[in-house]
Amino acid sequence: MNNEWKLEIAEYGTLRVCQTLLDSLSTFCQLLPSQPESGGVLVGKHLNSGGAMLIDDFTPPQASDRQGRCSYYRSEAHNNKVLDKWKESNGHSTFVGLWHTHPEAKPDFSTLDRKDWINALKNSRYEGTRLFFIIVGQTHIRCWVGNQTKTTSKIELLGEYKIGSK
Ligand SMILES: [Zn+2]
Repeated sequence: MNNEWKLEIAEYGTLRVCQTLLDSLSTFCQLLPSQPESGGVLVGKHLNSGGAMLIDDFTPPQASDRQGRCSYYRSEAHNNKVLDKWKESNGHSTFVGLWHTHPEAKPDFSTLDRKDWINALKNSRYEGTRLFFIIVGQTHIRCWVGNQTKTTSKIELLGEYKIGSK
């Protein structure tokens, strides 16, 4: 509960990721050949003190998603889930990024992932200029930050977390 993964971001501040969220995401880890890619949306809170961002919630795969071994399609159903969470939290919990799994130890983003992330940065509605992208691999979780300015979308690896370490 009090354990967190903390990542420092220049000109932004501290990103805090809840241990409970990491534990929940780890349960979708693709260790067996039969396990498909999973994914969803990251939900967090913009902070005024004690850091810049706390990611503490997510949406799990929805029935309308399409899950293949090496492919994943995120359906519109996630948006409604996020809206519910936003209402329940009186506007504190909001869309802050995307997550999905990969059947590889230390995950790297694919060309398609990058396209999806840039599309999210350019075309989705969010507070500020940054979104966070998490890929859950078989042994490590990696986190990237995307920063959208008027002219460019920049994606940068922030760090990696070894699954099971506390
Ligand atoms: Zn991917």
